[in-house]
Amino acid sequence: RIDKISLPKNTKEIIKKYGFSFKKSLGQNFLIDQNILEKIVNAAELDQSKGALEIGPGIGALTQSLAHSAGKVTAIELDQRLIPILNDLLQPYDNVEVIHGDVLKLDLNSIFKEHFRDQTEISVVANLPYYVTTPIIMALLEKQLPIENIVVMIQKEVAERMVASPGRKDYGSLSIAVQYYCEPEMVLTVPNTVFIPQPNVDSAVIRLKRRKKPIVQVEDSVFFFKVVQASFGQRRKTIINNLISNLFTKDDKQKLISILQSCDIDPSRRGETLNIEEYARLSNVLLKV
Ligand code: SAM
Repeated sequence: RIDKISLPKNTKEIIKKYGFSFKKSLGQNFLIDQNILEKIVNAAELDQSKGALEIGPGIGALTQSLAHSAGKVTAIELDQRLIPILNDLLQPYDNVEVIHGDVLKLDLNSIFKEHFRDQTEISVVANLPYYVTTPIIMALLEKQLPIENIVVMIQKEVAERMVASPGRKDYGSLSIAVQYYCEPEMVLTVPNTVFIPQPNVDSAVIRLKRRKKPIVQVEDSVFFFKVVQASFGQRRKTIINNLISNLFTKDDKQKLISILQSCDIDPSRRGETLNIEEYARLSNVLLKV
């Protein structure tokens, strides 16, 4: 079996041996710190009965650690040049499969069905390509996949938005979208020095523990998120003005004021002060307008 891929000297040797060159446009920043890798894998609470889906395995540093901790690992990599490298390096691990493709275009429901036949609990574990962090996480949450935990390295700033509570400057529609489906938790912040090449932004590992059902009951989740988006439209505007500008019209003003009041929400509050229950209550009433 090969030694740890993540050791800086091994990563450098592999890159040289295969003549690999990093593509910035694909968010390629490889982890070279075994300690951080272990913390990521531990946060996913895996064991031999569980499955792990990795997005963007690179040269397989995290995949190799996952192979030791999970019963089955499936890794999706977009860069064709990495596929033969992964197949070579991960060949000793018979519980690992590599799929070539774009995670945003593949049919994840079929992948889960085909690749995790014997696992009922599956976690997504990844050092994500930062240029597509939010679309990837939203796709994982919205597609009703059988996911237990999502443990991912992402930009620190995005992680802070995901865990933010009402009134904080980072609180916004992303906080609500993530918290609707999951219990988010900041696992650790990570210095740039654990990657090659080093990214320009700070990083953090976050764990999103999927709730059995959304934290609030909404009658129409698409409309709920529309109300949330509209309410955060211009951050300095009041909720009433944001709703008028972004979802309704001036003619609806009086009606909106009485609806907000009937929901116990002062129309002069700003969107960033409303919690998720208040948004649920409001959207359920607005739906009937
Ligand atoms: N897991 C490796 C590690 O930790 O060293 C590499 C992580 S690197 C930040 C992100 C990886 O995602 C790269 O290998 C990149 O080629 C891949 N990638 C980028 N966009 C992707 C997409 N849409 N679908 C699947 N993989 C993607």
